[in-house]
Parts: sequence; C-alpha cells; structure tokens
Amino acid sequence: MKITDIKYKMYKWPRPKPITNGLYTYTHNLLSIVVVETDYPEITGIGISGNLEVSPNVGESICEHFKKFLVGIDPLDNERIWREMWRPKLVGRRGITTRIISGIDIALWDIKAKLAKIPLYKLLGGFTNKVDTYIAGGYYEEGKGLNELYEEMIENVKLGAKAVKIKVGAAPINHDIERVKICREAIGPDVKLMLDANNAYKHYEAIEFARKAEKYDIFWFEEPVEPDDYIGQREITRSTSIPIAAGENEYTRYGFRDLINHRAVDILQPDALIMGGITEFMKVVALAQSNDLDIAPHGAQEVHIHLVSAISNGLILEYYRDTVNPMHGKIWKNELEIKNGQVLAPDRPGIGLEPKWDTLEPYSIK
Ligand code: MG
Repeated sequence: MKITDIKYKMYKWPRPKPITNGLYTYTHNLLSIVVVETDYPEITGIGISGNLEVSPNVGESICEHFKKFLVGIDPLDNERIWREMWRPKLVGRRGITTRIISGIDIALWDIKAKLAKIPLYKLLGGFTNKVDTYIAGGYYEEGKGLNELYEEMIENVKLGAKAVKIKVGAAPINHDIERVKICREAIGPDVKLMLDANNAYKHYEAIEFARKAEKYDIFWFEEPVEPDDYIGQREITRSTSIPIAAGENEYTRYGFRDLINHRAVDILQPDALIMGGITEFMKVVALAQSNDLDIAPHGAQEVHIHLVSAISNGLILEYYRDTVNPMHGKIWKNELEIKNGQVLAPDRPGIGLEPKWDTLEPYSIK
C-alpha cells in the first residue's frame, strides 16, 4: 500500500454572535481537513488538524513540504512517518507544523482501521464502546446574562448531559462566582460542573477563584494559568480541593512528560489534533497510565470518541453542541449523539468521519 497524495482543505463560517472565553473571542468557526489518498481506490484517510488562525496557504505549504517524502511510502508505517515528519530542526518543536502532522497522522490511523475493517477504537484497544460525556459551553456573549446562562444549562441537561462546563476568567472573580452559582442551581446537585479559564488568571488569582468556587462541588478547574507555568499550576493544584486539568495547549509526549513531572495537574487533556496525532496521543496515554493519571481529551468529539473508548484511563469526552458550533450536526454524516450522559463509539470501519463536502464547499477558503 502506498500514499499517492495529501490534500489540505480549510473551511470557515461565521458565528451568529461572537463567543468569548477567559482570554479569546471567536467570531468564526474553522475546520481543517487533511485527506491522505492511497493506491487502494476504496481507502482514503480523513484527518482533522487543530485550527490554524492563519491563511490556509500556511497549512497547504506545510502539507506540500511533507508530501515530498510521504508520497510512495506505506501509510501503515505511522511510526516511521511520524519520525520523518517531526524533525525539530526543520519544522520546529511545536505549533502550526505539529498541528499539520497531527492531521496527517489521524488520517493514517483512519486508513489503518479502514483496511482492518474495524472501528478505530477497536484497533487501539477497545476498552469500552460507550463513554461519559460533558457538554462544553457557558461562553460570554453580548446580551447574555445570568438568566441566559441558566437557560443554556437547563437546555444541556434536557439534551441528556450529566456533566457540563462553563467559561470563567473574563469577568471579575466575584461575578464569575455568581455565574458558577447560577449554573449549579440550574443543573442540580447530581450533574458534574467543570470550569475553564483558558489561561486567563495569574496563579494567585486562580487560587482565590478556586477557593471561592469550592463550595459549588466543581469536578475540575481547567487551564487556570498560562500553559507553560507548570510551577504555578502545581501551586494551584496544592492549594485547592478542586482537581486541576490542562493539556489542550501542550505538544508531543515531551510536553506531557514535563506537565506530569512537575506534578502540575490532576487530569490531562491532550488534543490529538494539536499535540501530534494519534501516534503521539497513545504515547501520552501510556505515560499517564504509568503515573495513574486520567485522560479527558480536548474538543473534537468525532475523533476523541475513539481514543477515550480505546483506553483504560479515559475519564470523559468533551462535546460541543450548536452553542459552540453553529454548523453542529451539519458537517458530518453520522453525528455523535448524547444519550443518558454518554456517547456510543461509532461501529463503522475507520474513524467514521464522512464530511458532507457539498455542505462545506461554500465555506471553503483559499
Ligand atoms: Mg479548555
């Protein structure tokens, strides 16, 4: 089997209203698809790259660079291909290039599982076929007050969520605590509540916030500070009873090794679309297992459902609904659904990502 071509496609669509988290405002949604074609006409790998907030030319030219030595190689040789792509002196140790490597690597695993005619989670370990899931949302929006936040949480519970996450860090601490309080009232005592600051706090602010939030029974407090501030994260972890989670801005097994070695967090949140693909993700899984740490991947439910289902230390799956992505339910054939707080792993061969190309086409950017 041989790789014959690699294509990069980027799509962008507007949000009805910008959404804001602790540090960033999003006016649009982005989707970067990597297609790896093979000499088996019926087997094409579909991967997704972590979003690049830059011109699609950047993604395309990085793919072109990799294509020079990937065309003609067996797509099943993912270890060799990863090593070939990840030459730190040429492509850098982290950042955009690693996001493209991730997209290509995910497509390779799609090929592998399609060839084996089994779903990816079975190929990777098949620990379970059903995983606990949380709905992530609770963003700041213009005109969205406590009442609207309350209604959003009620809606999440009606959709079957047994766990929900909201954003914090963009408002004064005491106002955010009010937001946390209203969410706990909306969801009741039995639904898990997570808080995500998206790196907005200094470590001493995060400690103050965590202490004030403790009485609302918080399942985890995510990315309180800058991702490289391992020591700050460790101080927060040691000063609150709330578990601390992070990892969506971490790259490769080396980044997670450092996060773990600093005893910085309680829960690891790798994103296979960002940190190096599935080849690298599974190495982080093993590293986490050898430290008795759980994995709760960041975003991209369509890919991460397989990874959480495959492993013994998969804690919970993040799920974005239409509040985060206005095209939710319209992009992929076979969208994942939450039932009774859980998502069922797809039983189709491969990852099961089938883009609706015609729907996406008007949003293609060049
Ligand atoms: Mg987050």
